[in-house]
Amino acid sequence: MINYYMPTKILGGKNIILEKAEEFKLLGKKALIVTGKISSKKNGSLNDVLKALEKCLIEYVLFDEIEENPSLETIDKATEIGRKNNIDFIIGIGGGSPIDASKVIGILIKNPDVPSEEIFMRKNLESINIAAVPTTSGTGTETTPYAIVTVHKEKTKKNFGQKVFPKVSFLDPSYSMNMPLAVTVSTAVDALSHLVEGYLNSNANILTDAIAESGLRLWGECIVELLAGELSFSTREKLMYASTIAGILIAQIGTSIPHGMGYPLTYYKGLPHGIANGVLYVEYLRSFKNRERVEKLPFLLGLESYQSMEDILRTFTKVDLKLSHEEIHEFSKSIAENKAKLQNHPESITYEELYEIYKNSL
Ligand code: NAP
Ligand code: FE
Repeated sequence: MINYYMPTKILGGKNIILEKAEEFKLLGKKALIVTGKISSKKNGSLNDVLKALEKCLIEYVLFDEIEENPSLETIDKATEIGRKNNIDFIIGIGGGSPIDASKVIGILIKNPDVPSEEIFMRKNLESINIAAVPTTSGTGTETTPYAIVTVHKEKTKKNFGQKVFPKVSFLDPSYSMNMPLAVTVSTAVDALSHLVEGYLNSNANILTDAIAESGLRLWGECIVELLAGELSFSTREKLMYASTIAGILIAQIGTSIPHGMGYPLTYYKGLPHGIANGVLYVEYLRSFKNRERVEKLPFLLGLESYQSMEDILRTFTKVDLKLSHEEIHEFSKSIAENKAKLQNHPESITYEELYEIYKNSL
């Protein structure tokens, strides 16, 4: 069955924000800019947004305190500032963290009677308009309806349960030019994991396969420079578009087991999101019983053998971390009970098999 939906306007290219500044006028009259503490001030993205807003005579308020893996507490703080200042749309600038936070803030501002911890239980809440300016090439949040939030009370990260697609996303690879190699690799591995989990997915169909295959080919073209540690503009551009394509893919069919297995590795062990998934990948892919599709992956990535794909995955996800038996037991139990993620995995998988994936990876 095919069920394709992608309402986000995607505008891409160098200087796209200044060229298409009038897009902001379609979103509202006063903006809340939501970003992280440092990077958007250094990579030019915040400056370009401010210039564009000035050009359109749009007022704004800046909230620049979003941390990695954003918490409900920080989201509440930004919401309060947005409400006090009567903002009517949001511009999220940065990696997945500020853009995801923007989607949650957008829901809370539109629905003032819903407390933040309740949004996970409610259905179909609407948001005010959101614009996204990604500066990493990994999450694809600029083209997904998801937002992943850290909920300290439950000691986990989880999707907010609503569907908020940005109205417009501006993709300018220039902002990612000076991204440190560690962040570049970790976010690139996140994009790869979206492509693979969308390809090896119970809901995969002829249309999602076309999207996944083109994304995997594009990602594969970046491997040589990722390994060398120096990325040209053209490769940064390919990575950014591969990540957006991966977002379009998971917007249709979701991620699967590695994403669910990676969340505790981020929450309890502090691994960056992409590495937390990626470190499990060699074992995850080996766990598949139906080998046919899995063995197409190296071919789509332009690699000569399955072995070289495993070598590359290991190189990109080296971590110094050992899990205890109790930790592996708790994490495996939690994913074995996560119906949403298991549903997307195209085969049955047991607690014991999940345990083995963690044990053999870490
Ligand atoms: P991030 O958490 O947004 O940012 C990671 C770090 O990179 C921060 O220190 C940030 O600095 C820095 N940074 C961002 N852009 C930079 C640039 N251009 N140059 C230099 N440094 C830069 O990282 P992310 O991996 O993009 O996002 C991860 C979050 O997205 C996780 O919470 C994950 O669960 C979520 N996610 C969401 C989806 C979805 O569909 N919604 C999918 C996958 C993952 P500053 O803090 O100073 O900005
Ligand atoms: Fe992800």
